[in-house]
Amino acid sequence: MALIINVNHLSKKFNDTYAVNDLSFTVNEGDIYGFLGQNGAGKSTTIRMLLTLIQPSSGIIEMFGKKLSTHRSEILKEVGAVIEKPDLYKYLSAYENLSIFAKMSGIKVTRQLLMNQLQMVNLQDRAKDTVKTFSQGMKQRLGIAVALVHNPALIILDEPTNGLDPQGIADIRNLIIRLSRELGKTILISSHLLSEIELIANRMIIIHKGKKMVEGNVADLLDPAHTLVEIETLNNTEAAALLQQSTWAPFLLPKNQLQLMMNKTAVPQLINDLVTMGVQLLSVNSSHSLENYFLSLTTQSGNVEAFTN
Ligand code: ADP
Repeated sequence: MALIINVNHLSKKFNDTYAVNDLSFTVNEGDIYGFLGQNGAGKSTTIRMLLTLIQPSSGIIEMFGKKLSTHRSEILKEVGAVIEKPDLYKYLSAYENLSIFAKMSGIKVTRQLLMNQLQMVNLQDRAKDTVKTFSQGMKQRLGIAVALVHNPALIILDEPTNGLDPQGIADIRNLIIRLSRELGKTILISSHLLSEIELIANRMIIIHKGKKMVEGNVADLLDPAHTLVEIETLNNTEAAALLQQSTWAPFLLPKNQLQLMMNKTAVPQLINDLVTMGVQLLSVNSSHSLENYFLSLTTQSGNVEAFTN
């Protein structure tokens, strides 16, 4: 499988602070690659370096097998990006906007091509309407159509669902999946929401304070075997003692005897056993350990064991 992006030991320093710190990652052809991190983690800075809007302090970026520093224009022809709210002409129609940007990018513009693009982002019925009548989600989709007009192989979207309502978020999500499945595009999408990335990405990275925390296949990282279960009871000391003597003992976390790391599918059996043992249950809360880990990066608390070794 071809490497579309290969980032090696990339850093960016603003004054004395590293916004991106020794970051390495790879995006393969056909990936929907989730670039996940809290606000300020360094996502936009990394994306701006990928688009040559700012220069790295150190490190190497290769795209399509070529060094970005030496093959900039050749590489960027294959990249379409939406990095801030798309800059559209609000008094012009969707079609006119797309037409202008298509001509600026130097491609041969036909009505068929533009209508196909509008159809791809599900705006074909609004082609003649001015952008000022559009919802934020529609503007975002038109922005993506503009980014796609020169038929790039790689699409980079920086927090494309920010500020959108649930329907707008679902529309963007479906669009990204279509771009991947139907057009075979490689997509890098940044987000501060694990729940968002988990729904669409096949691979992902979590960055924090400019550094890589984890990278891998979403299915592996979110393996149900890494479910953190927290139990609350009327008598926690007694419940902990009962659990230690039970078949659940190997799953108990050393630091907290009312927390287990286990497979999600076994949670109903655990509840059953707790009731049979006479534990007076108040609640059983299960969440994926990656979720807890991600949360802990901002709160600096919570359980981080599964991903910090
Ligand atoms: P994210 O996109 O993950 O929210 P950013 O890449 O925008 O994070 O920011 C990472 C860090 O770099 C933040 O601490 C931010 O304040 C800092 N930063 C970003 N751009 C600049 C800049 N032009 N000058 C100084 N600091 C910056």
